[in-house]
Amino acid sequence: MMTNLVLFGPPGSGKGTQAALLRNRYHLLHLSTGDVFRRELQNNSSLGREVRSYLDQGLLVPDQLTFQVLLAEIDRHKQDAFRGLLFDGYPRTLAQAEMLHTYLQKINQPLNAVLLLEVSDEEVIRRIQLRGASSGRTDDTSDEIIRNRLRVYYSQTLPLVDYYRQQGILHAVAGEGSVEEIHQRLCDIADRFFS
Ligand code: ADP
Repeated sequence: MMTNLVLFGPPGSGKGTQAALLRNRYHLLHLSTGDVFRRELQNNSSLGREVRSYLDQGLLVPDQLTFQVLLAEIDRHKQDAFRGLLFDGYPRTLAQAEMLHTYLQKINQPLNAVLLLEVSDEEVIRRIQLRGASSGRTDDTSDEIIRNRLRVYYSQTLPLVDYYRQQGILHAVAGEGSVEEIHQRLCDIADRFFS
């Protein structure tokens, strides 16, 4: 049986940074839909061209397409050795959560925990702007797009916190502090799911 985790939080909450540390510590397959979309954009593939306008505006890519991308990414790594799946930036809507639930049931896998990184609006805006200055990510440089992504988070994604809390698998962690401190907080929770 694998151990499968969702890393959850607003844009700029540090999911990508923390996911890389968790992947290494627990030998997980790191699945970031945002990373896949950016890779396809860079390759200028047909998928990349299809999702560009959503990413550029800070809007969510449609659920069905995002789910297909997630499945393809899992399939691409099916020969790899890993102890579980680490979802980063997925799910972002209730419909996505339901698709994930159905998929995990079908492959006979649990969703063990949803780790929520709690970071204030001011701090996420500060971090995204900082990242945009060096990464050149176009969705990180415009204040309007950053505000859009936060709006999308609050309206479409935040309801998932209640959804997972009701299932008893939500664990909130303070997402402010040093990268190492936050990693430790996540491990304090995640350790118990790995024997
Ligand atoms: P951040 O967490 O900083 O917003 P991501 O890399 O997770 O960055 O996502 C970047 C963009 O990719 C999102 O703004 C959205 O357009 C798209 N995206 C990523 N994951 C999803 C998803 N699960 N559903 C729909 N769109 C997504």
